[in-house]
Amino acid sequence: EGILTGWNLENSYARLPERFYSKTAPTPVRAPELFIFNRALAAELGLDADGLESEEGAAILAGNQVPEGALPIAQAYAGHQFGNFTMLGDGRAVLLGEQMTPSENRLDIQLKGSGRTPFSRGGDGRATLGPMLREYIISEAMHGLGIPTSRSLAVTTTGEQVMRETALPGAVLTRVASSHLRFGTFEYTARWGKEGDLKVLTDYAIDRHYPEIKDDENPYLSLFKEVMKRHAELVAKWQLVGFIHGVMNTDNMTISGETIDYGPCAFMDQYDPKTVFSSIDVQGRYAYRNQPAITGWNLTRFAETLLPLINDDQDKAVEQAEEALSEFEAQYKAHYLAGMRAKLGLFNEEEQDEALIDELLRVMQEHQADYTNTFRALSLEKPEDTPMYDNHVFTEWYEKWKQRLSRQDESTDAACELMRKSNPAVIPRNHRVEEALEAAVEQGDCKVMERFMNALADPYAYSKDQEEYAELPEPSHLPYRTYCGT
Ligand code: AMP
Ligand code: MG
Ligand code: MG
Repeated sequence: EGILTGWNLENSYARLPERFYSKTAPTPVRAPELFIFNRALAAELGLDADGLESEEGAAILAGNQVPEGALPIAQAYAGHQFGNFTMLGDGRAVLLGEQMTPSENRLDIQLKGSGRTPFSRGGDGRATLGPMLREYIISEAMHGLGIPTSRSLAVTTTGEQVMRETALPGAVLTRVASSHLRFGTFEYTARWGKEGDLKVLTDYAIDRHYPEIKDDENPYLSLFKEVMKRHAELVAKWQLVGFIHGVMNTDNMTISGETIDYGPCAFMDQYDPKTVFSSIDVQGRYAYRNQPAITGWNLTRFAETLLPLINDDQDKAVEQAEEALSEFEAQYKAHYLAGMRAKLGLFNEEEQDEALIDELLRVMQEHQADYTNTFRALSLEKPEDTPMYDNHVFTEWYEKWKQRLSRQDESTDAACELMRKSNPAVIPRNHRVEEALEAAVEQGDCKVMERFMNALADPYAYSKDQEEYAELPEPSHLPYRTYCGT
C-alpha cells in the first residue's frame, strides 16, 4: 500500500462490450517528474495532494504506475474531421478509470500522451510539454470563466524527447472530465457496432449524464434534446467570451456538453467574426462566426446515429429528429442574446436590443477594437479607454445605450455590477499564453504561468493584479497562428 490515498476509481465504461475500447496500459517513461499540479482540483477529486506531489505521485501521473482500482483502456471512437468521416480512437491517451469524488461525482481520469495504443496508427502516442501546458492553462481559464470544460490536474514531464519537427521534451497531461463520451463514440457504434451495441451505449450515456430522462416516453429523443440544449448554451458561452475552439470535429464534441480537446484553440482579441487561428483551418470552417452553425451540423451527425432508437419507423425518426433540431438556432440565440444583454448591463428585454448589440459589434469591427477590453471598459464606465471613443458612430451608440439603461428600473450601479459579472477583466491572451509557455518550456520556470493562472482563476474579480493582463500585445503584421496538439 503506497502513501497515496484518495483513489476511488470505478470502471463503468470498461463494462461496455469490448468493441468500445482496448485494454491498454500506459507505456512507462524514463524519468517522470511533476511539472505543474492543480492542488485545488486534487482536493475536489478527493485525492491526497501531498501524496500526488511525491515521487510515487509523479510515477502514477506519468503512467509508470497504475493507481489502485484503475483499469486502463483506450477508447474507440470515430468522427467527422473537417467534414470527413473516419475511424479514430484514443491514439495517445488512456482512461485510468472514473474517480468517485467526495461530492459523489463520477469523473474520468485520463492520461494524455501516455504512449501508443491500438488506435495510434502512424503516431507515437506521445505529447510534448508546450501543448500540454497550453491545454492546462486554457482549460483551467475556461473553468474560471464559468464555461463547462474538461479540467487539468497535472502535467508531468517524461525525461524523454519526442520527435516532431525538432526534438521536444515529452509530457503527460492528466485530464479530468465528466466523461469522454463523444458524438464520435456514437458514430463509431452506429457504423461498426454489433447488434444491440447502440442501445447499450445510449442507455449508458443516459444513465451517466441524464438519468432524469430515463423514464421519458422516448428517452432516446430526450437524450438528443438534452445534449442539444447543453451545446446550444455551450457555444453561446464561447461566442460571448470570444473563444475559438479551432477543431470542432465531431470526435471533439462531448455528450456531457463540456468543452474538450484544447489543441489549436485561442481567444479572439480584435473583434472580427471571420477570425481563425488554426494553421490547418485554411477554409475557415471553424471561424468564430461559424461556431454556432457547426455545432448544429455536428448535432445533426449525432442525431443520425440515434435514428434507429428514436423510432422503428425510420421516416418518423427522421421527422422527429428534424423537429427537435429545428429548435437549435432559437435556443442558441436565446442564450446568446441573454448573455449579450448581461454584458451590456441590461436586466429586461426590449425589441431593439439585438440591433443595439449588432451596432456595437459593427463599430468594434470597423475600429479593430479589442473584444474583451471593449466590454471591460464599458463595465468600468471608462468608454474613453476604447479606441472608438472619438468616433461619432460610437458616441451615438453610447448615448443610445445610456438611454436604454435609464429605461430599466435597476440603478447604474446594479447594471455595472451585472456587467462586471458578465465581462471578464482577463482572458488567456495569446501573447501572455506564449510568454508563460516560453518561460516554462525554455527556462523550466513555472512562476510566470502560475501568476497568470492566479489571475485567470477568477476573471470577474477586477482586481489590481489582473490589470496587467488586460494590456494588448505590440501590434504585429503577422496574424497569430495555432497548431493542432503536437
Ligand atoms: P485530435 O486532433 O487531438 O482530436 O486527435 C485526432 C486523433 O489523432 C485522435 O484519434 C488522437 O488520438 C490521434 N493522435 C493525435 N496525436 C497522436 C500521436 N502523437 N500519436 C498517436 N495518435 C495521435
Ligand atoms: Mg480529439
Ligand atoms: Mg487533441
